[in-house]
Amino acid sequence: MTEQDIQSLYPEEVTELVRKLGGKDFQGKQLFEWLHKRQADSYQQMTNLPKAMRSQLEQEYPLLRLKPADLQVSALDGTRKYLFVLPDGQMVESVWMHYRHGDSVCISSQAGCRMGCRFCASAIGGLVRDLTAQEMLEQVYAIRRDVGTRVSHVVVMGTGEPLDNYSNLLRFIRLISHEQGMQISQRNLTVSTCGIVPRIYDLAREKLQITLALSLHGATDEKRQELMPIAKKYSLDEVMKACDFYFQNTKRRMTYEYSLVGGVNDTQEDVRQLAQLLRGRNCHLNLIPVNPVKERSFRQPDQKVAGNFKNKLEKYGINVTIRREMGRDIDGACGQLRRRHMAPKEEMPFGGRVTEITEREK
Ligand code: SAH
Repeated sequence: MTEQDIQSLYPEEVTELVRKLGGKDFQGKQLFEWLHKRQADSYQQMTNLPKAMRSQLEQEYPLLRLKPADLQVSALDGTRKYLFVLPDGQMVESVWMHYRHGDSVCISSQAGCRMGCRFCASAIGGLVRDLTAQEMLEQVYAIRRDVGTRVSHVVVMGTGEPLDNYSNLLRFIRLISHEQGMQISQRNLTVSTCGIVPRIYDLAREKLQITLALSLHGATDEKRQELMPIAKKYSLDEVMKACDFYFQNTKRRMTYEYSLVGGVNDTQEDVRQLAQLLRGRNCHLNLIPVNPVKERSFRQPDQKVAGNFKNKLEKYGINVTIRREMGRDIDGACGQLRRRHMAPKEEMPFGGRVTEITEREK
């Protein structure tokens, strides 16, 4: 984040900035509301702020308002998949879904991802860069402006590993739920992680009310390691302990995600091991039939196999659902719209490589 990222600032920081520009504290509050609650398109619209201040802001703190560069709309259920171009030319995907319990937006937290999960389209080009808090917020704001209805849920489940972009993620969570902003209840916010253990402990200590979803995808170290490089860094035992700590500290029930990959992690043995792992834990398990990615050879299990998998888990007393597939017709796995539009690898700024998971998260 740079000093110029005005939409990434907390209210007290906006007030500080306004003071520096010679304004009063109440004008700081007004500016924050223009940025986050009323979401003005330009500083000129902020008519209760002095003209000179508006001009100075305009010159030094460019407003970020994203417009969709591409949009796919599902004929089946109205799901909308957006592609946004960021000021440096990077692209991110975000999705709007309509549910009976309220409309939900899924955002990306990074341009690309360095976690390298085998079945994931977003991992293919590697990490390009972290998104700032304002770039995460603007995905939600831009979609709200486009759709025109209330967004009640936000999930950080698009491209990127949110806990690999920890400080920006925290700002995003606090700002999107802020009472002077869009005020999305933290209980309606879900962050999905592949399991960066030290950051799970950190998040648990923030005392937020968000839901944490852990990408499990295998019930043993061997199975997880086959699909997720991060599993070589942190054992299943360490990850589960961190999730238990998250639950104890926040009293928020954990969600576990399990992408069902045909012939890889959908056998009877897998069911047994998964049930054994989750039994006695107050949690919810979400099964996601894998979305085939054209660069990868993974396939979905037959519907019958997935149904049986779920029924068996229920018999073991596990609280389990199969994720309803939204926007099946526009789909392709998450990350593919971005890939389709992206410049060839060698033209990408920063090289776009798959980098080893380093010590950075320590
Ligand atoms: N980095 C975060 C968010 C990733 S996307 C994480 O790892 O949790 C959200 C979920 O979708 C994760 O569980 C991810 O493993 C899963 N996923 C990614 N690609 C998929 C695909 N092609 N089919 C099904 N699930 C997929």
